[in-house]
This record gives sequence, structure tokens and C-alpha cells, in this order.
Amino acid sequence: MLDLGLAFQQQGLKLGLVPTMGYLHEGHLSLLKLLEGKCDIKAASIFVNPLQFGPGEDFERYPRDEAQDLKLLDSAGCDLVFIPSVKDMYPIGFQTYVQVEKLSQPLCGRLRPGHFRGVATVVLRLFTVTRCRYAAFGLKDYQQAVIIRQMTRDLFLNVELLFGKTLREPDGLAKSSRNAYLSVPERHIAARLPFALEWARSAALAGEDKTHNLRLGVEKLIVGNGEATIQYVDIVDPYTLEPLEAVGPKAVLALAVFVGKTRLIDNIMIGPQGESEPVVEMKV
Ligand code: AMP
Repeated sequence: MLDLGLAFQQQGLKLGLVPTMGYLHEGHLSLLKLLEGKCDIKAASIFVNPLQFGPGEDFERYPRDEAQDLKLLDSAGCDLVFIPSVKDMYPIGFQTYVQVEKLSQPLCGRLRPGHFRGVATVVLRLFTVTRCRYAAFGLKDYQQAVIIRQMTRDLFLNVELLFGKTLREPDGLAKSSRNAYLSVPERHIAARLPFALEWARSAALAGEDKTHNLRLGVEKLIVGNGEATIQYVDIVDPYTLEPLEAVGPKAVLALAVFVGKTRLIDNIMIGPQGESEPVVEMKV
């Protein structure tokens, strides 16, 4: 059995891990920076996890460029890159899965059944294989972040989690490997997402407390004349992810939108006590 982390652990070396699916950008690299000064070995994994893709999703065509990823990781000071095969991660006979029950139900969980089961399972597997003491995740995948935090708590995992803010393109679009799918006109339409999120944040700060109105406003700004298709625009409690009728002190506005065939997700913290980035408590 693969046990990458054992030798490091036996030498008393602390490993920090940034799990990724590759096709890296500055968002991924910013997570490596969070590990600086905390651990002895800054590691990243690259694994396009079949378990978190549903039938008809983009597992096969997910962008891959290992050579470029290795260059980027090297220049970002990454000490170790773990690139397992599907067989390494899920040997024949593998049959143990992690299901974070409630937090996996709303938002993306509603539209991608089994997705977060796949995410939680692969993350636990990466934690155990690397024996990492730290792991960094991006708040761009907000639901994923709170699910991993819950799993880490529930299973008493000895891993300290670090969460990084969303890195964006100059026009505000969240950096994402999937942005590579967008044509030039689609790329322009995609810029409506951060614009609409900022609009909602300002409207909530200006006193609009009804989530219904904010959601409608966001949907209108994004859909325009039908150039984009909303999967969901939801405003939820930052901790439980339960839907809210009123924004209250702070809430997370999260959305998933199709621009052409490309599914984009993004989120923002809104409300008087919200900040521009949702804050996930670091303590597990
Ligand atoms: P992925 O390769 O898409 O699975 O992402 C790997 C990690 O990078 C996850 O923890 C993501 O939340 C994080 N990430 C993805 N995009 C960004 C971004 N634009 N800014 C910061 N972190 C990101």
C-alpha cells in the first residue's frame, strides 16, 4: 500500500498539502503560500478524481497539462508533487466512502448527487496517504470548504485546515481551470457573475435584507437576454448552509451558472457583518 507520508512522519517532518485537480493557476499557487512557515514540506497533489464527477459531466475532457503544472509548482516553491493514478487512490476492491450528510445536500449537492461524497472520500484518502499536518483549500469552493472542515472535525483528523480567499481575473471572474473552456464571447458573459455578486453585496449593505429580492436581482443581471443559464442562486447561512429568508448579520450568496456548456461557480459573503470574502473559521 502506498504510504507516501510515513517516511516524513518518522523523521518528524510536517507536511502541508494543497489538493488539486491540476491545470493550475494562481489561485492554486496562492494556497501553497498559506503553508509557508507552517510546515517542513510544501506539497501539492494533482488528481482528477473520477468519484466526484457524475455521468455526463466533464471528467474525460477536464483540462490537463502536467508539464506546465510541474513548472508552476516548482516556481512557487513546492517541495513535492503527488500525482497518483486512479488505481493508487482506489485499488480494486475499494469500498469505503465518506458522506458528510447535511452539508452535502443543498447548493451544488442538490444538482450534483454524489459529488461531495466523492470529494470527501478523496480528501480523506489524500490526508491519510500523505499524512499531512496541514491542508489548504480555496473559499471559491465554499461548500467544499465547510464539508471538509466538518469531516475533519467529525473524524478527529489530525490536520489543521487553512482556507484561502478567491483569486480573480482583473474583471473579477474567479480564476478556474474550467475558464479554459470559455470562448471569447462566453468569457465576456462570465464576467457578469462577479458583477452580480458585488451588486448583491452593495444592495445588502444599502439595506436590502430580503434574500428573494437579492436572488432575483442577481439572476436578472446574469441571465441578460438568455446568454447564461442559472443552476442556482442561493443565499444561505455561512455555517449550516441552510437557506435564509433574510440576510441577517451575514450570509453567503452562492451560485452556479452555465455559460454555454461551461458550469461556473462563485460566492460572496454579504450582510453588514459580512466581508468581501466568506470567512471559514480556521479552528477545526
Ligand atoms: P481544483 O483544482 O479546482 O479542485 O481546486 C483545488 C483547490 O484550489 C481547491 O481548494 C479550490 O477551492 C482552490 N481554488 C480553485 N480556484 C481558486 C481560486 N480562484 N482562488 C483560490 N483558490 C482556488
